[in-house]
Amino acid sequence: MPKINSIVVILIHHSTIYAMQIKSFTFNPFMENTYVLYDETKEAVIIDPGCHEKSEKAALMEFIKENRLVPVKLLNTHCHIDHVLGNAFVKTTYDIPLWFHRDELPILESIPAYASNYGFANYQPSQPDHFISEGEVIKFGKVALKTLFVPGHSPGHLVFYHEPSKVCIAGDTLFDGSIGRTDLPGGDHDTLLRYIKKNLFELPDEVEVYPGHGPSTQIGKEKDSNPFVGKLARF
Ligand SMILES: [Zn+2]
Ligand SMILES: [Zn+2]
Repeated sequence: MPKINSIVVILIHHSTIYAMQIKSFTFNPFMENTYVLYDETKEAVIIDPGCHEKSEKAALMEFIKENRLVPVKLLNTHCHIDHVLGNAFVKTTYDIPLWFHRDELPILESIPAYASNYGFANYQPSQPDHFISEGEVIKFGKVALKTLFVPGHSPGHLVFYHEPSKVCIAGDTLFDGSIGRTDLPGGDHDTLLRYIKKNLFELPDEVEVYPGHGPSTQIGKEKDSNPFVGKLARF
């Protein structure tokens, strides 16, 4: 049945067009999740590099080298210290531009004043190369990521959404059974709840949420059972 075989081949080939891969690392004492997204073209983006120790930087470099990836952009969901510790290292190692939302700049610029209090005396500052606006499409390889604005944990927090594979990189907005803290400078609890409902809970239930800390979850699961913002919200 050669005809049927050729149809199968076409379908498999078609599905690979949208095959974005996700690699996660958990770095630094805050147990922050760093993500590398890439596709079959080998182009990659690095999101929230929290690598600080030599061994952490080596693990990230090793993965990129082993998979022959070509990082093309460095993205921050937001600029709290645990998400940007490796910014300078990644920028200089791969000579790629740093992108984040304009409202995160004061958050990034405040870090040198307190980094040593958190035990990061050799923190290396980094400068942005481009400010991402809400709704901007970020491209690498054959992938196009949508940007969703979800402030409240921090003032310019973005979530990166890959619609074809129903995956989002959510930073510290929505966690498995929790939400981002809102007691840090620029945080606001009501704003976070409002934007999670407006921009995340509008996504399909099956969308997999990869957060800045802890395991992944799904939009539908959090809509049903999240104690802060779901149907069962108690706060
Ligand atoms: Zn944060
Ligand atoms: Zn964090």
